[in-house]
Amino acid sequence: MRYVSTRGQAPSVGFVDAVLAGLAPDGGLYVPEAWPQFSRAQIAGFAGRPYHEVAAAVIGAFAGDEIAPAVLLEMCEEAYATFNHPAVVPLVQIAPDAFLAELFHGPSLAFKDVAMQILARLYDHVLAAQKRTQTILCATSGDTGGAAVEAFRGRKNVKVVALFPEGRISEVQRRFMTTAADPNVACVAVQGTFDDCQAIVKQAFQDQSLRQAVDLSGVNSINFARIAAQAVYYFTSAVALGAPERTVSFCVPSGNFGDAFAGYVASRMGLPIARIVVATNSNDILAHAFEDGRYARGSVTPTISPAMDIQSASNFERLYFEAVHRDPVETARAFAAFAEVGVIDIPPQAFAAMRALFRGVGIGEDETLRAIVATLNETGELIDPHTAVAVAALRRVGDLEGPVVVLSTAHAAKFPEDVARASGVTPELPRGAANLAALAERFDRLPAEPETIKAYVRAFAEA
Ligand SMILES: *Cc1c(COP(=O)(O)O)cnc(C)c1O
Repeated sequence: MRYVSTRGQAPSVGFVDAVLAGLAPDGGLYVPEAWPQFSRAQIAGFAGRPYHEVAAAVIGAFAGDEIAPAVLLEMCEEAYATFNHPAVVPLVQIAPDAFLAELFHGPSLAFKDVAMQILARLYDHVLAAQKRTQTILCATSGDTGGAAVEAFRGRKNVKVVALFPEGRISEVQRRFMTTAADPNVACVAVQGTFDDCQAIVKQAFQDQSLRQAVDLSGVNSINFARIAAQAVYYFTSAVALGAPERTVSFCVPSGNFGDAFAGYVASRMGLPIARIVVATNSNDILAHAFEDGRYARGSVTPTISPAMDIQSASNFERLYFEAVHRDPVETARAFAAFAEVGVIDIPPQAFAAMRALFRGVGIGEDETLRAIVATLNETGELIDPHTAVAVAALRRVGDLEGPVVVLSTAHAAKFPEDVARASGVTPELPRGAANLAALAERFDRLPAEPETIKAYVRAFAEA
């Protein structure tokens, strides 16, 4: 399986190189040259199988012969054994034909664990084979850092540095990072905003001497292995509800569009999906793209679903590439223009192609809070604000074809204040995470100065 860049100016690469590189050298995103296919019989055969077996089949279809199937199966088994539910991603019914797929039973209680746990094992395996060590640098507005630290802690060939904006993430989110005692993990409270952290990471990646010295790598949501790992629960959820005989719809709380794009991938691989509803908070660039055909950046408004406070959904470039019949010249033109002026007017044919599967819905703060209360009253389930955005979107669109799966992306206890404010009930951390408050924290504080942080990364990587 070869991977091509959406901008067409980089040579094609294999799975391992696509995963280690993240972004393609021409600034595009890697996509497989052709979508692997599952027959109806193969999909039907996923029913009742352990999650890690389906994961190995789906991810294996993208890895081709670059990772031995037995090795991949073992990695998947190990990765999903870290989840504290035997189904890994269980379904919970909330209405006659609506279900939550709970993606938050991993070590950091957020859906990022699903992909990060397997990504960390892939990295360690591939780097060991190449006798290489890498340094992962990530900026986090909350969940990515915790998932990355949980996944990469204790790995032999990778060090991880997580930057977070001091005082701007929840205590639970911070503790998932800072309580890791492993020597390959460093957490830095940056005296600035999330945007400052991201800008510093970007500068670090542009510093060729640092990049080479510490073999810098990123694990953000454009990494294709993350997309492949996220396609898995579309399969397991849909077959549990009767696919491929029945067609299933999904409702997805979206920010960077990685999770929702994974649904597109599952559909292209043969899973019969009727509709994917892309639910955003008031940062609704994606909702507008799918409803009005105009992808236009606004300024970011902080909300109670902070993991979705995004106005430039990186993975949208992959869908655009598909919708313009994989024309890399048009894709490069559109996203260069977007970088400059912040707008893409989606060509009518491409818009129609997107609408064949996707709908967009933007949800405000009040509606989000009301969805938390309504879900609690009607079902007894306490949902987090990200999940609530998707539940509210489902209420707004009404009937969809077949059963609907709402992706539930975080445990309510990660956002205890907002959930309690909405519902009057304070969610409790599950057993296992409950002693988080008692563990010692370990992190450094640094000013939001690129040079200071780059020096810190270098010293940590070389120690
Ligand atoms: C990252 C995240 C999302 C958004 O997922 P994307 O793949 O960026 O669209 C939604 N909810 C939670 C809790 C997240 O951490």
